Amino acid sequence: MKRIIKTGRSILLAILSCCAAAALMLSGCGAEKQEEQPAAQQEADTGAQESGAAGAQGAAGTQGADAAAHESEAAGAQGSPTSAQDGTLRVQILKVGKADAIVLFCSGSTMVIDCGEEDDGQEVADYLAGQGVQKIDVLIVTHFDKDHVGGADTVVKQIPVDRVLLPAYEGAGTEYEDFMLALQEAGITPEMVTRTQALKLGAASAVVEPPASYQIPDNGKEYDNDFSLITTVELGSKRLVFAGDIEKKRIKEWLKGGTVQPCDLLKVPHHGVYNKALADLFDALQPSFAIICDSQKNPADDRTLQLLEERGAECLRTANGDISILCDGQNIEVSQE
Ligand SMILES: [Zn+2]
Repeated sequence: MKRIIKTGRSILLAILSCCAAAALMLSGCGAEKQEEQPAAQQEADTGAQESGAAGAQGAAGTQGADAAAHESEAAGAQGSPTSAQDGTLRVQILKVGKADAIVLFCSGSTMVIDCGEEDDGQEVADYLAGQGVQKIDVLIVTHFDKDHVGGADTVVKQIPVDRVLLPAYEGAGTEYEDFMLALQEAGITPEMVTRTQALKLGAASAVVEPPASYQIPDNGKEYDNDFSLITTVELGSKRLVFAGDIEKKRIKEWLKGGTVQPCDLLKVPHHGVYNKALADLFDALQPSFAIICDSQKNPADDRTLQLLEERGAECLRTANGDISILCDGQNIEVSQE
């Protein structure tokens, strides 16, 4: 198995024994990207992001109040993994085929973004239980396609959840219906996201962005993917973006919205399926790491992989195994086994 260690701009390749994990380490690469900007520019960028986020919801004060209110809730989280209680952000992206199941831990708080297909729900619940999670602070279902919402009913039935954030449209299919029923039975009222939401995940902060509108197009085309909630998690100088299954139309809308900033890690949208807006998205985000949730049977498109390679992003695919991310606010380490 190959091991890649990346420190700054040097890359060392070494062959490890077959049972060792393939690991990628990045030291200060994203920080270098930021240092190239004058400090004043960084501040201006931050301001632009805040005003952009406020513009999306039209009420900056409310967003701040939301963040403050939920900060205290997250701080009270119990029973989460001790390994992530020191302010380190830990992310596990599970190998569940061409589907998304992502778990984030920070300072004793737990966030889950999507739960894979129906058959994956138990794996997600088992993983959380194995990590000692007794409560999920925030469960985000990006959209209601079965490869994102499918396992969510199983998770909700087995682990208490404080908050559930959903896109504000009605899904279809048994997976969606089973999930809504499970929420009802658990006494959970989901929050339908119609404006940008700020959240706290322990020492990390997160912003969840909905589409500008949930208007269903009348051309009969598939629309769910573009309704995906986009979650950006920040810790220190590091930024991680989880882009659901957004496609061309939503990518263009997001890029126009003024909230997009370079990130260190991107969960590539829609399982790496190529579309013509991806080049612009990658140019805007400039991710050092690109994670794709695909499978050997349904791999990412070569054109997508090529775009990422041309931009120097380290690309990891769940087709090859679970992906683990550690971020201390200054460095990101990504490993796969
Ligand atoms: Zn999907």
